[in-house]
Amino acid sequence: MSIRVDLHSHSTASDGTLTPTELFTRAAERGVDALALTDHDTLSGLSEAGRAASGCGVLLIPGVEISVTWNKRTIHIVGLNVDSENAQLRSGLEQLREFRVWRTQEIARRLEKAGVAGAYDGALSFAHGDLVSRTHFARFLVSTGRAESVPDVFRRYLVHGKPGHVSGQWAELATAVGWINAAGGQAVLAHPARYKLTRSRMIRLLTEFQAAGGCGIEVISGSHSKDECYKMAKFAEDFGFKSSVGSDFHSPDNRWIDLGRLPELPSTCQPIWADWPHLHHGG
Ligand code: AMP
Ligand code: MN
Ligand code: MN
Ligand code: MN
Repeated sequence: MSIRVDLHSHSTASDGTLTPTELFTRAAERGVDALALTDHDTLSGLSEAGRAASGCGVLLIPGVEISVTWNKRTIHIVGLNVDSENAQLRSGLEQLREFRVWRTQEIARRLEKAGVAGAYDGALSFAHGDLVSRTHFARFLVSTGRAESVPDVFRRYLVHGKPGHVSGQWAELATAVGWINAAGGQAVLAHPARYKLTRSRMIRLLTEFQAAGGCGIEVISGSHSKDECYKMAKFAEDFGFKSSVGSDFHSPDNRWIDLGRLPELPSTCQPIWADWPHLHHGG
């Protein structure tokens, strides 16, 4: 019997809709043995997650998903097994949340100008943690009937060239990897296929990530097609990266992505958890 791991998920501490307790209860129901809570730019869900995890027999992998600006694009770096008390990681994430405070006001201002009333309070009413995400704006706009779905809001309001778009000014790649390593964690490039990079740019990203101390890449992701999984497995092999597996679960409302519902890693991959002492393989 192989162990079921899911190394990427979100709670109400960032843009998920389940509390850490509800998230771990769902993970247990779905037969997940180890779940990483990787909220965007915050560690604030981890203490509740730790209590919930021990209550339901799921192993918590303490994690985070850090927003990074690389060559003018936003990319995400997941940190796994981070020490949530580490001062360097904590102060780094605090800077990113400060940028979010400003960006929330700026997005709201631009949406108001485009005729969307009450966007600031609306987004805040959907946020439960210590930060506001574009997802909260999206859920608000759906609730007002302005759009059909969250992806629809992104397409029409929140991406480059649309009225509510504000450019990210996130951490530098090497800086974010440095925070994770300082906190004793493993840095993993999240959902690499989602950035739609050309092959040569992807190679540049992977090269820089590795030079900065990156450890692995997500080969299996809720947002990768089967074909993309195989492409990423090949990159992992070529670079000697460990491979990670994560649903990127945000909400039960998304019928397509659930906790622990993930294909197996291709046999050429080295699972990032293979040498984690706290994860024991059952025969
Ligand atoms: P933020 O970090 O606040 O800029 O928000 C980014 C989050 O928005 C991501 O983590 C996703 O959860 C969500 N997101 C980004 N793009 C889309 C999209 N096209 N459709 C739905 N959700 C998206
Ligand atoms: Mn998200
Ligand atoms: Mn992400
Ligand atoms: Mn994520």
